[in-house]
Amino acid sequence: MKTLDSGTTYTPFIERLAAASERVLMLDYDGTLAPFVVDRDLAFPYPGLPTLIGRIMQSGTRVVLISGRPARAVAQLSCIVPQPEIWGSHGLERLHSNGTYELISLPREQREGLSEAITVLHSELPPDRVEAKPGSVAIHWRGLNSQKADAVRTLVHSLWADLPGKYPLELLEFDGGLELRVKGRDKGDAVRAILAEVNSSSALAYLGDDRTDEDAFRAIKGHGLGVLVRSEPRPTDAEVWLRPPQGLTQFLEDWLRISGGE
Ligand SMILES: [Mg+2]
Repeated sequence: MKTLDSGTTYTPFIERLAAASERVLMLDYDGTLAPFVVDRDLAFPYPGLPTLIGRIMQSGTRVVLISGRPARAVAQLSCIVPQPEIWGSHGLERLHSNGTYELISLPREQREGLSEAITVLHSELPPDRVEAKPGSVAIHWRGLNSQKADAVRTLVHSLWADLPGKYPLELLEFDGGLELRVKGRDKGDAVRAILAEVNSSSALAYLGDDRTDEDAFRAIKGHGLGVLVRSEPRPTDAEVWLRPPQGLTQFLEDWLRISGGE
């Protein structure tokens, strides 16, 4: 991992994009296309991005959203027309652009573990801070001051302390919360599945902001461009760092221009 500076250029990639037989643009949602807000049900994209991405799709690029959220929630919030392909719940769900839906079925012990994770919370947290998803339970503390957020973190770590050892589940912190999720499935799996579907002269990029996106950056390495979208840099396996929304919008406009979309 290395910390990138804002001078990193993606020009060589844009040149490769111009010559590619197939273009695939993979995007994380929260923190990448949509700024963080306290009410995560109101996390809409930066203004102008849904239209821009719609035009990129119309110019022949396959756009794929890859998120930790349930796929259908991303479809609703992202406001992109037509609806792109969406991988939800860290690669457990796949909602195709034609509306076909696939969900990987979980082994019984993982389902039991997730159910126990909800039970042991004993309603100690308000319902809007607990999110049960296919393959995980997430606790959100965005909007709380650091003292209260620390109290929630400590409480949940103690209530869930036994679960990762007892079941094939893992505990991961993300920007604004903590998640207990099934082991062995991450955003890198979604990227690898897409890589297996494209030919070798395709140009691919993955854009993401969070620690869970590092699996995707590692998966795309050597096959396409990893782009960290974040206001501040941090050690990453991505190759390029862009600040949202301006740097991100510029990248997408360059993508559209080179695709002949304008
Ligand atoms: Mg994100």
